Amino acid sequence: MGTLYEASQEIKSWITDQPVQEESLTDWMLRYISKYKKNFHYYLFNKTQEACNGADWLWCIKTNPYIYLFLVQAKKTKKTPSENYSGLNQHNGDQIVNLLNEAKTKNLYPIYTFYTNENYQTKCGAPKIDEGAFLASAYDIKKLFDAYGSKIKINSRLVNATHTESLLNNCIGLSCLEDCPLCNSEDSHDFENFLTNYLVNKIEDFNTKLIDENSIYRYKQDEVPSYISALPPMKPNGQGVSLPDWYQKEFSSQIQNLNGIVVFDFTKKTFDY
Ligand SMILES: [Zn+2]
Repeated sequence: MGTLYEASQEIKSWITDQPVQEESLTDWMLRYISKYKKNFHYYLFNKTQEACNGADWLWCIKTNPYIYLFLVQAKKTKKTPSENYSGLNQHNGDQIVNLLNEAKTKNLYPIYTFYTNENYQTKCGAPKIDEGAFLASAYDIKKLFDAYGSKIKINSRLVNATHTESLLNNCIGLSCLEDCPLCNSEDSHDFENFLTNYLVNKIEDFNTKLIDENSIYRYKQDEVPSYISALPPMKPNGQGVSLPDWYQKEFSSQIQNLNGIVVFDFTKKTFDY
């Protein structure tokens, strides 16, 4: 019980059964996983303080030896390629650029979580036919949007479009973090390699105007940054803990526009409760 694979399966069947918002899927997924996993916790911000609608999550993935810090934005895919493009590029493409810039300012690596009930080949090659949650580097997705040939003709007019197939081709399944044919996540060195090759790759050749070489690698750190190490102790069951006001004040610049913080510690065994 409580594997990422099961969470991902449930998301797929939920999307298939009824209309559901990204926010609800994310809230449910975090609660579900944290209920069963000792090494997975999340902290919710006090939603009355900040306007949190559509805000992103900060994920801290602890591996041995590095700590990875991600800015994660969840999106549900749309049925048609043009809707898919506009859903991901609200305000004429500003949304993804904002995500990349925000991540850069905060020394995080930008990631999309896609929720979908469509089936396509993912990066690792394993068919993920029963999963509904996928992860991709936002840099890879930006490349996809910028690529020549991403337009389609509708009523003899060329419009921007993104096929869900192209999105998923750039993704790993959510379950890949825990159990991927390409990676033995019990071996921390192998897991670190997996993350670098399949989730945070291809940053080097991205449009350098958006990237400052000096700051880009700070999403990968040797030590847990203070705004994460200062988090209050977890409840024994690890479920969503609200952050106290002092914390929100002290670390306001790092945590602004965030829904909350997720800590996934792969240096600890993934014993279920
Ligand atoms: Zn995989």
